[in-house]
Amino acid sequence: MTTDIIKTDALIIGAGPCGIFQVFELGLLGIKCHILDSLPVVGGQCAELYPDKPIYDIPGIPICSGEELIEALMKQVEPFGATFHLGEEVLELTPQDDGSFIVKTAKETCFHAKTIFVAGGVGSFQPRKIRLAELENFEDSNIHYRVRNPEQFAGKDVVILGGGDSALDWAVALAEAANSMTIVHRRPEFRGAQSTVDQLMALCDSGKARFVEGKISAFANDGEKVTSVTITENSGSETELPVDALMAFFGLAPKLGPIADWGLDLNRKTVNVDTEKFETNIPGVFAIGDINYYPGKKKLILSGFHEAALAAFAAKALIEPGKKVHLQYTTTSPVMHERLGVENEN
Ligand code: FAD
Repeated sequence: MTTDIIKTDALIIGAGPCGIFQVFELGLLGIKCHILDSLPVVGGQCAELYPDKPIYDIPGIPICSGEELIEALMKQVEPFGATFHLGEEVLELTPQDDGSFIVKTAKETCFHAKTIFVAGGVGSFQPRKIRLAELENFEDSNIHYRVRNPEQFAGKDVVILGGGDSALDWAVALAEAANSMTIVHRRPEFRGAQSTVDQLMALCDSGKARFVEGKISAFANDGEKVTSVTITENSGSETELPVDALMAFFGLAPKLGPIADWGLDLNRKTVNVDTEKFETNIPGVFAIGDINYYPGKKKLILSGFHEAALAAFAAKALIEPGKKVHLQYTTTSPVMHERLGVENEN
C-alpha cells in the first residue's frame, strides 16, 4: 500500500491561538505551511475551555472572547492559504538524514516537512470517556462526547451524564425538542451556573426533563447502537432508561501524548527551547506557546505570539539557507503587501 506524502516547508502541530499565529508569521516571510489539530475545530484552549469568557490582555484588543480572538486570528491568516487538517492527532515524528522530518497522524496522513512547529499547548484534548466495558464499540453510533448538530436530537430519548456546565447547558437546550431528557449525576449539587441549574429544575418540575442521582452501571445494545442504560442510583436501586442518544460531559483531559516520545528535551510536561529561535534540542523543530519552557516563561497568548515571530525567522534561514532575511514592516514593505494581498499604497 502506498500512502501519499504531503510535502511542505513547514508543518504546525496544534491549531490553538499560537499555532494559528505561527501561520501568519511564516506567511509574512513567504513560507507556506500545513497545520493540524487533533480536535475537529481550531482554537485550542480558547475554543474548548473558554469560548465565551472575556480576555483582556491581548495587545491592542481591550476585550474579546476566546471565540472572537480565534475568529480574528483565522481572518488574519486567510491571505496565506495554509491547509488546515482537523481531527488529526500527530503520532510520529521521524527525523530524516537531510534534516527534514516525516510526520504521521493517527489517521495515517503522512507529511514530509522541512521544519516543524510544535504548538501543542497543554497537549491534545481528549474528552474523558464513560468507563464501561465494551461501550467504546458504540462511540461512532449513538454515544456523543460533544454536540455538533443539536437538531438531530429532536424527538429522541436523550440521556446526559455529567454535572458541569456542558451537561447542564445541553440538557436545558435539548429538553424541549427531545422525546425524553434525563440528566444523570452522582451528586445533587451541580458544578455549573446557578441560572442554568434553576432552568433545569424548572424543566424537571414541568416534566420536560428528569434528574437521576446515580451513575451508569450497564447498557444494552442491538449490535449497532446502545438501546438502553442502567443507572444505579445512590439509594442502591436501579433504573433502566431507553436511549436514542447517550451523551457524556465529564470534561476534557489534555494529554502530552505522543509528543513525549519524539526525543525532545522535556521539562516535566513542556519542551525546553532557547529564547533566540524557540528551537528545541532537535534542529528544525521549534516549540511555541504553552508547550515550551525557558527561564521566565509565562503561559500567556502574547508570549506565544512573540515566540512565533522569532521561530519563523529561524525557520526561514533553514528553508532558504544562505539567503539574507531582512526585517520588513507590514506598514511600508511592498513585499509584505503582496504576501498579505493588500493594495500597495506607497
Ligand atoms: P492551546 O490553546 O492549548 O492549543 C494547542 C492545540 O494543540 C490544541 O488544540 C490541541 O488539541 C493540539 N494538539 C496537542 N497535541 C497534539 C497532537 N499530538 N496532534 C494534534 N494536535 C495536537 N491566556 C492569556 O493570555 N490571557 C487570558 O486571559 C487567558 N485566560 C485563560 C482562561 C482559561 C480558563 C484558560 C484555561 C487559559 C487561559 N489563558 C489565557 C491561557 C491561554 O489560553 C493559553 O496560553 C493559550 O491557549 C496557549 O495557546 P497554544 O496555541 O500554545 O495552545
